[in-house]
Amino acid sequence: MSTTPAPANPKVGFVSLGCPKALVDSERILTQLRMEGYDVVSTYQDADVVVVNTCGFIDSAKAESLEVIGEAIKENGKVIVTGCMGVEEGNIRKVHPSVLAVTGPQQYEQVVNAVHDAVPPRQDHNPLIDLVPPQGIKLTPRHYAYLKISEGCNHSCSFCIIPSMRGKLVSRPVGDVLDEAQRLVKAGVKELLVISQDTSAYGVDVKYRTGFWNGAPVKTRMTELCEALSTLGVWVRLHYVYPYPHVDELIPLMAAGKILPYLDIPFQHASPKVLKAMKRPAFEDKTLARIKNWREICPDLIIRSTFIVGFPGETEEDFQYLLNWLTEAQLDRVGCFQYSPVEGAPANLLDAAIVPDDVKQDRWDRFMAHQQAISSARLQMRVGREIEVLVDEVDEQGAVGRCFFDAPEIDGNVFIDNGSNLKPGDKVWCKVTDADEYDLWAEQI
Ligand code: SF4
Repeated sequence: MSTTPAPANPKVGFVSLGCPKALVDSERILTQLRMEGYDVVSTYQDADVVVVNTCGFIDSAKAESLEVIGEAIKENGKVIVTGCMGVEEGNIRKVHPSVLAVTGPQQYEQVVNAVHDAVPPRQDHNPLIDLVPPQGIKLTPRHYAYLKISEGCNHSCSFCIIPSMRGKLVSRPVGDVLDEAQRLVKAGVKELLVISQDTSAYGVDVKYRTGFWNGAPVKTRMTELCEALSTLGVWVRLHYVYPYPHVDELIPLMAAGKILPYLDIPFQHASPKVLKAMKRPAFEDKTLARIKNWREICPDLIIRSTFIVGFPGETEEDFQYLLNWLTEAQLDRVGCFQYSPVEGAPANLLDAAIVPDDVKQDRWDRFMAHQQAISSARLQMRVGREIEVLVDEVDEQGAVGRCFFDAPEIDGNVFIDNGSNLKPGDKVWCKVTDADEYDLWAEQI
């Protein structure tokens, strides 16, 4: 008896650049392609076509995107570009005229159609017997996942082009978000990282309408979403929260251990003059008092933030104001960028003095030294305490994980010397034995 081998599935290579929001877009595209019978492969050589999901937020990200597109063309030849830089099709085609198609952020259908054009799906593929897990394709390790609750943003910060790339805020239905979270937890996820451009604005666009989840009403609103997520029994970590008054409602949930006592608030600056020029949302001079109040209710609260130094018009006085503010605020985890103009951003039109590169560098160095002393002192206070650690990696030296202080990729680690018996995804209680300015060392107890 002769058997005809089944035709091979078409194969897609995928490169995902940029932030967690772009990663979630990549997961969605890949999930769709897998449902249609495409295999996802990990080398350029094995792929029939390569999709590059680009980041176009700042010039260095654009340069990296162009470089990766070039590499994919050289190694494979058939390349489709999508993501934030896709809004600049002309600039991409100028450098790489041979790309097959260019689509923008969230244009899932267009990317998938471009893949169909380049490498058609198998006609005999039966979607009823596909092997896509119910939680979809995830690009993060199995034990944590990003949960995107909305697209776009209603603000107009002068240095940012996201609203022009991704449009106004569109909140996902609360029932859909919670269903997805539940599927992820059933699939083994131990930590949900809630992301969006502005998590605290969730539901504003739909007037906080009431949705349904598991047969019960739930409002499309951040506090109610967090309450519902807390019933899933996993860590829930919030990113990109602005200090609007209703954020106060979250602090008791954190103090009660329902969600992680961790807030990622991109303050960007502290000087009222610079914040006004940046057109930042929800900033007033009471922020320090609110942080103090939050810490009184939830002493364990970890605040992470990012800042920009060298924004046009920033004077030495503004910068000193920022350093003094940092001393007062005692933030735990902080990143800092030197301002660089983004093509198309309103900040480029500001009638303000450009800060020279050497001054920017000097302010960045001083900022980092100043904040490192604060972060390091705050981490030292944890030595001797018991913390729960979620294990990310294990080798013969021990285990590396994170506790509630640390979001993956952007914060520090916890090194567990006696952790070789553990496996990724385990949660264990440890005692902190040492700390530096970023990381902790701990022993299993
Ligand atoms: S809040 Fe500001 S920085 Fe953040 S996405 Fe919206 S416009 Fe951009």
